[in-house]
Amino acid sequence: MIGYGAEDNHFVCELTYNYGISQYEMGNDFLGMHIDSQEVVERAKKNDWPVKDEEDHSILEAPGGYKFIINHKPQPTDKDPVQQVVLASSNLEKSVTYWKDLAGMTVYSKTDKSAALGYCETQAKLVLQDIGGEVNHAKAFGRIAFSAPGDDLPGIEQKMKEANQTILTPYISLDTPGKATVQVVILADPDGHEICFVGDEGFRQLSAVDPKGDELLNEAMEKDKSDEWFAKKGKGTISSRIVRDFGLKHMSSGDILRSQVLKRTDVGQEAEKYMKAGKLVPDETMVKLISSELSALKTSNWLLDGFPRTRPQAEALDQHEKLDLVLSLEVPDEVIIERIKGRWTHLPSGRIYHTEFNPPRVPGKDDVTGEPLVQREDDKAESVRHRLEYYAANTGPLKKFYEEQGLLECFHGTMSNEIYPRVHKYLQTYIPAHGGPF
Ligand code: AMP
Repeated sequence: MIGYGAEDNHFVCELTYNYGISQYEMGNDFLGMHIDSQEVVERAKKNDWPVKDEEDHSILEAPGGYKFIINHKPQPTDKDPVQQVVLASSNLEKSVTYWKDLAGMTVYSKTDKSAALGYCETQAKLVLQDIGGEVNHAKAFGRIAFSAPGDDLPGIEQKMKEANQTILTPYISLDTPGKATVQVVILADPDGHEICFVGDEGFRQLSAVDPKGDELLNEAMEKDKSDEWFAKKGKGTISSRIVRDFGLKHMSSGDILRSQVLKRTDVGQEAEKYMKAGKLVPDETMVKLISSELSALKTSNWLLDGFPRTRPQAEALDQHEKLDLVLSLEVPDEVIIERIKGRWTHLPSGRIYHTEFNPPRVPGKDDVTGEPLVQREDDKAESVRHRLEYYAANTGPLKKFYEEQGLLECFHGTMSNEIYPRVHKYLQTYIPAHGGPF
């Protein structure tokens, strides 16, 4: 949970640690958060985070594209710097009726296109903005929560029921492992925005600042074995071991693209569309991007990871640089499919499990809510197979190109620990190793 102060009187974001994040698809439902803080703008600029300056505010985008509108005002110390959280509405009148008459909020201001509502003058406002069309939640699964006296929850639910509104999770008590039990009712407004009313008493205990928060988070990250999961995917670790043992500079086209996406550059925004669809980024974009990175390396020895991936990319690279060696790491499709198809998702929270590397406590059920887990389309065997075929069609001609030049060496296997010693031995015949091979 991240915020500017205690949850009793501050708006707080809950970030879910989740390695499925690269597959999230953004909708048009969440339109941004307005924060009073000149300091945020200064910090962002100092850290080279892209900032779009407007007259009295600046716009920052978080990874994934969520907008933060930062007002050029000193950050207040006596109240929450978060001023507004803006959600899209397809029909403003209908939304206002819902939030005012059923959810009991006060309307603080209203125009044709937007309305600001809240439960209290001094707290962050919920702004509903008419977008003149349908609200699409895509795959990002946001939810907004309010705490209310526990005794009020059954009444809120009853009122919604009588008005024929959607109740996603009827009033229940949720046990949080090792922490307080909380009462919740989960609703959806007319545009399908998820709203969670949480019983104040349990929530206050649950949300108390935890001095061991960092430590617990690190432990949980270790326990969920995500490092191992990534390591078993193989390729990344082989590259990092080569770099470690042979003193090369490492350049990964996937990492370079992800960093462009995070910074929301033009190239990043274009590339993201292809990456999300499991497609290759167009050759021209890739060649430009990688050539400029390579020329910055000048005379160092380097390892290019993930580039080239098509024959035209290889031909373009050949114009600039002569390669010494080309390594192809080959994991059987069935092994890759087995690994990915073990992933199960709890859709409402985005929590991801893996039947082998991070299993839920009860098979098929989310650890926190006990709700059923589902397998996402992208993780189904058929969909993975399809992506692999698409890649094979593109990389096949590439391998031939390097084979003809006598540069290609293939390594077959299923685990990094098994493949790497062979790669190490092979490379040693060309470059002296500083260490390794494990
Ligand atoms: P990676 O981490 O290497 O699997 O790359 C992640 C994604 O970035 C890929 O699925 C592609 O969409 C894109 N990508 C990375 N390298 C290339 C490349 N050489 N050519 C085209 N697309 C690429």
